[in-house]
Amino acid sequence: MQDHVTPRRVVILGGGFAGLFAARALRKSPVAVSVVDRRAHHLFQPLLYVALRQPSWRRPCPG
Ligand SMILES: Cc1cc2nc3c(=O)[nH]c(=O)nc-3n(C[C@H](O)[C@H](O)[C@H](O)COP(=O)(O)OP(=O)(O)OC[C@H]3O[C@@H](n4cnc5c(N)ncnc54)[C@H](O)[C@@H]3O)c2cc1C
Repeated sequence: MQDHVTPRRVVILGGGFAGLFAARALRKSPVAVSVVDRRAHHLFQPLLYVALRQPSWRRPCPG
């Protein structure tokens, strides 16, 4: 009998809300979780309206 069992790997495609919540739901499961996304960041879409309304957020970054 093996002492150490390699955990199963779960690959979640997409780091949007569904992907992040799936990863969170699995955080206590005995699996290794990988989230794959074409972007290196999460786009918080509900905040887009707020960002567009805030003039100070539309300024280009200095430098
Ligand atoms: C402007 C705006 C405001 C919103 N406001 C609200 C709100 O207030 N409340 C609310 O409940 N909902 C809101 N929504 C809807 C909500 O954002 C979506 O229902 C939710 O994001 C869907 O989640 P998802 O994980 O299915 O898809 P997404 O969040 O779109 O995630 C999909 C992920 O998959 C990745 N992906 C796609 N194709 C590939 C590929 N080929 N290879 C690698 N990665 C890939 C994308 O980069 C993305 O990260 C809003 C939507 C928009 C556009």
